[in-house]
Amino acid sequence: MFEADVAHIAQHSSTGALPQQDRVGELVAEAHERYAGANASDGAVADYIPILARADADWFGLSLFAADGASHNAGDTGIAFSIQSISKAFVFALVCDALGHEAVHDVIGVNNTGLAFNSVVAIELNGGSPMNSMVNAGAIATTALMPGKDSDARWDAIRSGLSRFAGRPLLLDGEVYRSESFTNYRNHALARLLQSYDRLAIGPDEAVDLYTRQCSLAVTARDLAVMGATLACGGINPLTRERVVSAETSRDTLALLASCGMYERSGEWLYEIGLPAKSGVSGGIVAISPGKGAVGAFSPPLDSAGNSVRGQRACAYLSRSLGLNLFASAPRADIEPNPGPDPFQSPDREGASR
Ligand code: GLU
Repeated sequence: MFEADVAHIAQHSSTGALPQQDRVGELVAEAHERYAGANASDGAVADYIPILARADADWFGLSLFAADGASHNAGDTGIAFSIQSISKAFVFALVCDALGHEAVHDVIGVNNTGLAFNSVVAIELNGGSPMNSMVNAGAIATTALMPGKDSDARWDAIRSGLSRFAGRPLLLDGEVYRSESFTNYRNHALARLLQSYDRLAIGPDEAVDLYTRQCSLAVTARDLAVMGATLACGGINPLTRERVVSAETSRDTLALLASCGMYERSGEWLYEIGLPAKSGVSGGIVAISPGKGAVGAFSPPLDSAGNSVRGQRACAYLSRSLGLNLFASAPRADIEPNPGPDPFQSPDREGASR
């Protein structure tokens, strides 16, 4: 939309640096300790995909991968879980990288629906548009745009693309894939509705199957931190040094995560924590600080929107203590605040208000 206007202007970044490594490690450990004991009944483990209900409500892993390659880990950062909705962020990045900024904007959209992640009504209210790639309808439509000559090639591009973000080969959790495949009637309904509006680039069954597979890839909290850190570093994985996507794609992905990544609580999240992020129903959260690194959190109990309760608290703590909030600024040290009366307050108005 605005891209044509500004495409010739070099993109400069607006980022700072993390505190010293030791301090970052201490704060990650502190955040973990602070919320590990949080009451699990503050949230509920997802059970609408039957196998997710088996998760232990006490699991809690917190990982931060810094842009300089340093890794800080506390708690259950080695436990594997299905990536679920967090895959949407990285599949979006791959598709955006392949098709470009304008194409994803025009074909899918980049505005929040304000409705639940699996809403059917959102499609109807928006004339058949899937609205954005972070809700199920938009994610299924985005996955359908993945380049490839057939379903196997598309799946290979998704799996290998997400593996490049993680810096290691990610594997499908077959049990999760089967459990979700037997119960994902709603996603099939969304795909058929999109097809009726001619909004799906491939057949609905194939699109839902690919989407279900991507959601079933097994990751750890540490993987999420590395994947997010790749977006924080302009698309270069700070672990492997491989370029995964372009800097422009990283920027576009983070913009979308800021407005749509935390379900219908994205506004509240941005207000409180101030970072682009994505969460998933298995309890993962990735929160990205451009230029600095990313936090990967995992704890299965969720709030009513589907966001991990402990994960959100730990991210809020780290955002505040590490200075990650994108909107936080301090006055310049060389500018003294004016101690005198407010020069903009007119005596008349002052008098009138008394
Ligand atoms: N595979 C899940 C679904 O389609 C992902 C949901 C989520 O993590 O938000 O329902």
